[in-house]
Amino acid sequence: MAHVLLIEDDEPIRTSLAAALARLGHRVDSADTAVAGIGLAVQHHADIVVLDLGLPDLDGLQALKMLRAATTVPVVIATARDDEHQMVRALNLGADDYVIKPFSVEHLNARITAVLRRTAPAPPSVPLRVGGLRIDQGAHTVSLDGAELVLRPKEFSLLAYLAEHAGRVVGKDELRSAVWDNAFGVTDKTVDVHLSWLRRRLGETAAQPRYLHSVRGVGVKLAAPAA
Ligand code: CA
Repeated sequence: MAHVLLIEDDEPIRTSLAAALARLGHRVDSADTAVAGIGLAVQHHADIVVLDLGLPDLDGLQALKMLRAATTVPVVIATARDDEHQMVRALNLGADDYVIKPFSVEHLNARITAVLRRTAPAPPSVPLRVGGLRIDQGAHTVSLDGAELVLRPKEFSLLAYLAEHAGRVVGKDELRSAVWDNAFGVTDKTVDVHLSWLRRRLGETAAQPRYLHSVRGVGVKLAAPAA
């Protein structure tokens, strides 16, 4: 369950929504103006904000902009107006979802749950290990036998992709599309050059490979050296 901040000026709506969300197990803070709500959002670190776009003190989109400038908290906007233009602007300003009044608390709760699921931080990735190589994609670090290696971004992506498929020969076409966002204009030669740089970083040569094994005409394989 979540810590929800409800910014809504309509007293009966605010009170009943807050009570209903609390019954569903959420912890609820509420505010009746944009300024008070933004203040609470900054101080109390809510998990999610439900922001009414029709508030007395600030234009709703202005309030959303200020909220976005002050915090990264997910925002579900609530509006009485079925105004597509307004919705699109709100989503472009960083709102995560919206509900149109009148809505049921079950509907709002479903949106809150979906937004929280979508915006939850990715769990820390488990580092990939191949022999003495340790590749941490979350921290973007590589070490070999405990010593950190400094790789350029493409070298890192190449190594990480090969490590995800360790023991399998990966073709250059596959590497091209996995590692280069826009593979157009990336030739086999480009891949070869990056592989040779990577080989140098790993302290080995094509003639005497330890981890990176080229299979002529097929591709390349990352594998732990035989013990
Ligand atoms: Ca209102």
